[in-house]
Amino acid sequence: MSEKMSLFARLRQGMSRSRQQMAQVMEMEGDDNTPLSEDYFDSLLDAMILSDMGAVCAEEAMDKLRMVVKEKKLRTNGEAKAALKEILVGFLQVEKPSLKWPMVILTVGVNGVGKTTTIGKLALRFQGLGRTIVLCAADTFRAAAADQLQVWAERARCPIVRHKEGADPAGVVFDGVQSAKAQKADLLIVDTAGRLHNKKNLMDEMEKMRRVIDREYPEATVRCLLVVDATTGQNGLQQARAFREAAGINGIVLTKLDGTAKGGIAFGIVRELQVPVMYVGVGEGIEDMQAFDAKEFVDALFD
Ligand code: GDP
Ligand code: MG
Repeated sequence: MSEKMSLFARLRQGMSRSRQQMAQVMEMEGDDNTPLSEDYFDSLLDAMILSDMGAVCAEEAMDKLRMVVKEKKLRTNGEAKAALKEILVGFLQVEKPSLKWPMVILTVGVNGVGKTTTIGKLALRFQGLGRTIVLCAADTFRAAAADQLQVWAERARCPIVRHKEGADPAGVVFDGVQSAKAQKADLLIVDTAGRLHNKKNLMDEMEKMRRVIDREYPEATVRCLLVVDATTGQNGLQQARAFREAAGINGIVLTKLDGTAKGGIAFGIVRELQVPVMYVGVGEGIEDMQAFDAKEFVDALFD
């Protein structure tokens, strides 16, 4: 419980800049008891855009809010803000895929967003739930990548399958699958290279990996998790689009929300991909990840 609280506190702290900016804008139009005015609607829109939500998303939320205000005859700033929060929670509530074992998780995302770190955190988390895990170092593009994953494997105390630098990623996945099957592991987590500058390459590579899994491990549920750095703002949206095309995405991990993050990017990505945010990263340590909760997130952003 206390750990969950402290993670939430870190999420709040990370998002405090967004929250303060938003509060400042909104407070100019009075307090919660001030009668609702057109200016307050404007300030809510400004506040959302400040959080990096993206204009399309913010305007959609405003349209909905105006309808609710009319329908429910809301009269104060406080009532309108509460209604807006509910609308925003609704935007983020997409059904999460069920856990079905054995499972393969492919992590994708551009270089530096936190894929390898997230894999370490996921390994620890699922171990805590009594699952056995094998890690697979299919980012063979950089020499350091497999070493880095190995460090996480040691921290989480789980086996890792790796090849030499430059090896065929699909070949590493092949061995990873054999290892997971031999050990009757519940979960194989695959680290991939985040090459986006050549989409054709990326697409071919993802397809090859998936083919290997489908052929060698048909009983496994395959999930593709997109890792997005929350501090990259609207650029994260472009990444989401590109990876959806190349890989198909089942869920999102939003990292670095402990930093100077503008968490609003979550709304744009969920809206665009219609897949849920599964976890949020709130630090560099192995325990600094929490399951995503839409209401907590909107609270962290607003008050
Ligand atoms: P990859 O290239 O996608 O595999 O990214 P890495 O896992 O190597 O992470 C890149 C950098 O981001 C490292 O310095 C990590 O420690 C850092 N990082 C990853 N997740 C988080 C997070 O949730 N919060 C913070 N503050 N840093 C993170
Ligand atoms: Mg990596």
